[in-house]
Amino acid sequence: MALFMAGNSVPAFHMLVPGGGPTLNLRQQPTGEANRMTTAHPELHPGRIEVITGPMFSGKSEELIRRLKRAQIAKRRVACFKPDLDIRYSRNAIASHSAQTLDALTVVNVEELKAVLMPMAEVVEVVGIDEAQFFDASLVPLTNELVRMGHRVILAGLDTTFAGEPFAPMPELLAIADEVIKLSAVCMQCGAPAVHTQRLGSSQSLVLVGAAGVYEARCRACFQPWTDEQTEQLELPVSASARE
Ligand code: ADP
Ligand code: MG
Ligand code: ZN
Repeated sequence: MALFMAGNSVPAFHMLVPGGGPTLNLRQQPTGEANRMTTAHPELHPGRIEVITGPMFSGKSEELIRRLKRAQIAKRRVACFKPDLDIRYSRNAIASHSAQTLDALTVVNVEELKAVLMPMAEVVEVVGIDEAQFFDASLVPLTNELVRMGHRVILAGLDTTFAGEPFAPMPELLAIADEVIKLSAVCMQCGAPAVHTQRLGSSQSLVLVGAAGVYEARCRACFQPWTDEQTEQLELPVSASARE
């Protein structure tokens, strides 16, 4: 069942940017693995879009956290975001089902994400976004804008809904990505590789964020998207899309 924690304060900027204070434009002084491309063509400052996708429990958040932690080890300045409806484990961090965490800012929609990120855009080099499927289509132009500015943007999100249909804006993000990693989970029915997210029970809650007991990873053979006809297959929670 989803665990909702009471509203802690939003993490301070220095927590998102390890090493903190100095407003140093590291893109002008590329060092290390993460800046090989910028070193090759410094005048272009090319960014990079990486999309991590798959069903629930496939390790998307783990992989996002792994990449962001490696970027921090490489002294890249990292900012991480997630939609406010996913506060299962923490409001101030992204978390995996295996209890790995990384500091993150919670935002209600793309507009707020942009408003928070742009003032620090000169400082931040790597932008991580978890649960990207909960944001609306305007995440695509923002991602393009960030990559044009030279950022490495790493997005993790569900590829399909629990109806087995593409989960907007993921298809477009997959299309524009430099790198796509599509993970599978383990089918909870038969142990085969799972590509689907099975919603259990008959909840019609608009936002049903949860894990074990609410959703299950399933292979194609075991996936039953329409077991309960009363269960509406909702794609995009209002809180991350239409909210002004
Ligand atoms: P996602 O972000 O894709 O939902 P997480 O990164 O949060 O996935 O969690 C992945 C972890 O979930 C795995 O490393 C494993 O410990 C745990 N896990 C629980 N159920 C499953 C499952 N059915 N298949 C694979 N991993 C699972
Ligand atoms: Mg996740
Ligand atoms: Zn199966």
